[in-house]
Amino acid sequence: MSPASTPLAAMATPTVDASSRRLVGLIGAGIQRSLTPAMHETEAAEHGLRLHYQLIDLDRAGVGLEALPTLIAAAKWMGFAGLNITYPCKQAVLAQLDELSEEARAMGAVNTVVFRDGRAIGHNTDGSGWRWGFERALPGADLSCVVLVGAGGAGSAIAHALLRMEAASLRIVDTDPVRARALAAALNRVYPGGRAVAEPDAARALSGACGLVHATPTGMSKLPGLPLPGALLHPGLWVAEIVYFPFETELLRVARALGCRTVDGGTMAVGQAIGAFRLFTGFDAEPARVAAHFVRLIGAAI
Ligand code: NAD
Repeated sequence: MSPASTPLAAMATPTVDASSRRLVGLIGAGIQRSLTPAMHETEAAEHGLRLHYQLIDLDRAGVGLEALPTLIAAAKWMGFAGLNITYPCKQAVLAQLDELSEEARAMGAVNTVVFRDGRAIGHNTDGSGWRWGFERALPGADLSCVVLVGAGGAGSAIAHALLRMEAASLRIVDTDPVRARALAAALNRVYPGGRAVAEPDAARALSGACGLVHATPTGMSKLPGLPLPGALLHPGLWVAEIVYFPFETELLRVARALGCRTVDGGTMAVGQAIGAFRLFTGFDAEPARVAAHFVRLIGAAI
């Protein structure tokens, strides 16, 4: 078989000198404005590492999920240290991996792939990254009754994190009730105690709740407003936002005006990047430096 016709997956993985330039990347659709390359490359330079972060944009390439096996095999063959994986590939990538971390297996989704000794290992730093940021921002927060608004990809990762953090009760609200019910059922299959419930009524969900996590796109610059009536918030409720563009969303503004303790959306973005950076490089990123860089990048992107 000529080299041109050798399937990429069948090629041996070359050995990469640990001191050489590290190649990493992001596979997803519509990712041209991602801040992740700048975050990783700048932090790597601070550690004296030469790291190149390549965007692999399905939209830009005019391909769909069918290209994923080839892209994963190509990255492995070219000596990439790893890849971040985003929409719409987080589940589809599972079939291309040799191994999964316990967390990625529980979540059924992967946002980081590491290539090691010819094997592709899937991890998920979305939930653990959110947890990292949340615990730094609100140490010892009450998790007796938490409301999650938004049962999509990000909400699902956070729900897993909350149940791993021993949240006693998780009420899931989504305008698509099928999604909310499906997430609650999936969580209760993995974690003991039947702690997740779908709650179609936001007012009932927030009655007596100690915390609110917002995980819908509402509040983004292109979708301004509140995801639920502000009158449902009450002082004493902590409020964690995941939208970070803009940094101060309408939800954060209303919550802060009421005196609620809040977590901004940047903490999850920084937390998941720090987790992936460790997996790619073996180095611990400096959290305050990454967070400050992220805030600068957001400012420049507005
Ligand atoms: P998604 O489309 O997978 O899920 C969004 C869910 O919210 C859907 O199930 C939808 O039905 C539901 N929804 C929309 N409006 C609602 C409302 N008013 N009330 C209740 N449910 C509602 O999206 P996703 O990938 O989960 O991302 C959601 C948002 O999170 C993104 O738009 C992005 O702004 C943000 N995000 C932030 C980070 C971060 O690192 N901070 C990471 C990922 C996503």
